[in-house]
Amino acid sequence: MKHADPDSILSRLRSQYDLSQSRDEFLHFRNPYETLIATILSAQTTDRCVNKVTKELFSRYPDCAALAQADIRDVERIIHPTGFYHAKARHIIAASQMVMTEFQGRVPDEMEDLIRLPGVGRKTANIVLDHAFSKTAGIAVDTHVRRVSMRLGITDESDPDRIETDLVSFFPQDSWAEVNGLFILHGRRVCTARRPACDQCVLFDLCRYASTG
Ligand code: SF4
Repeated sequence: MKHADPDSILSRLRSQYDLSQSRDEFLHFRNPYETLIATILSAQTTDRCVNKVTKELFSRYPDCAALAQADIRDVERIIHPTGFYHAKARHIIAASQMVMTEFQGRVPDEMEDLIRLPGVGRKTANIVLDHAFSKTAGIAVDTHVRRVSMRLGITDESDPDRIETDLVSFFPQDSWAEVNGLFILHGRRVCTARRPACDQCVLFDLCRYASTG
């Protein structure tokens, strides 16, 4: 097994995945409000599932002011397919209310403010900062990023915040947003949870999991 250096990992994954052509596989949003709500809804489900429900959700509730006053049963009905819909409905309504009362109706653009919103942890905050404000404060760690990072041997941690700490010290800052997208696509298409296709993987000779079986 060769040393898994960040440049090799990035260049090989870039050769496989074109993030600009893969937007349909990620969450759809048009502004900071939609980014925040779609990302909260994406917990424990797929981006495709979220994209299906947000069409109706954002047409009925186009901003934080509207969602802050929503009937929770109506919101639960719309987001039901995403799972955990009682908690998610509570969170997105409460987050919208907090945006209205504490941030003058504007989704905040600082990590410490975002993680105060109900239902928002570092993963969600990183995605909102990156996609809505073009600010890179870290690397969002979802289930795919977690699995690929652990298998490659970049981290031995299981807690997402600690994995993020290992990732941001491994990869250069100007690649952090890209690492999230590349690892998600690699985790969905090749390094899948149950049966990773190691024999087709461009990272095979760099991978701890592949070298140890
Ligand atoms: S070699 Fe296998 S375990 Fe390692 S990154 Fe590739 S698919 Fe995942």
